[in-house]
Amino acid sequence: LLTARGIRKSFGENEVLRSIDLEVRRGEVVVLIGPSGSGKTTVLRSLNGLETPDSGVLDFDGGPELDFAAGITKQGRVAMRDRSAMVFQQHNLFPHMTVLENVIEGPVRVQRVPRARAIADAEALLERVGLSDKRDAYPFALSGGQQQRVGIVRALALRPDLLLFDEPTSALDPELVGEVLKVIKELADEGWTMVVVTHELGFARQVADEVLFMDGGVVVERGAPKDIFTNPAEERTRRFLDRIL
Ligand code: ATP
Repeated sequence: LLTARGIRKSFGENEVLRSIDLEVRRGEVVVLIGPSGSGKTTVLRSLNGLETPDSGVLDFDGGPELDFAAGITKQGRVAMRDRSAMVFQQHNLFPHMTVLENVIEGPVRVQRVPRARAIADAEALLERVGLSDKRDAYPFALSGGQQQRVGIVRALALRPDLLLFDEPTSALDPELVGEVLKVIKELADEGWTMVVVTHELGFARQVADEVLFMDGGVVVERGAPKDIFTNPAEERTRRFLDRIL
C-alpha cells in the first residue's frame, strides 16, 4: 500500500529522521516503538502530510510518487493527505460539536459526502464501537476512553486506506486503556491497514505484523514481534525493552 524511502527531516540543527525506510502492505499492522524523542511521531506526521520531509520518497499505491527533495505540489500533498487518517494522543474533538457532528465534519465539509449518507455512516460506526447512545452528547460529557473511541470513529469516517495511531492511549487513565486497545485490535482483525506508535508492548505484540524499533532518528531493528520482543538482535533494542518491560 505504501512505501517510504530515505525519509529525512530536521528541525533547525536537530536531525530528527535520518533516512527512514518503511513498507506497509495492505491489511498489515506496523508498530513503531522506541524511546521518547526517537522520531516516531514525526514519521507518522510525514506519512500524512502534517510534516514535510526534507528529502525522501513516498509512494502510495496508485498515487503519484512524491519526491520531497524535488519539492511536492499542492495536489501531491492533498493526494497524500487523503490516503490516511490520524488518531492523535489527545482526541482533538471539537468541544462545541456533538459526537455525531464531530464525526461527519470531515466527510461532509472536506470530502463533500451528502449529509444524510455521512450521518448513516457515522451512526453505523458509532454502533460498531458501542457508542450509539452518545451520538448527541458533547465531548466533555464522555469519559476519556469514550472520547478516544469517537476519535477513532472520526478517522474511520474518512474511509482512509491507512490508519495512523499516535500513542492513542498514552493520555488515558490506566483503567480506560483497555477499551481503546480493544477497538484498535478489532479493526486490525477486520483487515484495516495501520501504523501504530505505542508504548503498550503487550498490545504491540498481539496486533503487529511487523515491529520497528526506532532510536535517534533511525530504525535500529525491524522484524516480527516474536523476534523483536523475545530475541532482539541489537543491544539498543534489548536495553529499551529491559527498561520498559
Ligand atoms: P514521543 O514518544 O515523546 O512522542 P517521538 O519518538 O514521537 O517521541 P518525535 O515527537 O517525533 O519523537 O520528536 C523527535 C524530535 O523532534 C524531538 O527531539 C522533538 O523535540 C523534535 N520535534 C518534533 N516536532 C518538532 C517541531 N515541530 N519543531 C521542532 N522540533 C520538533
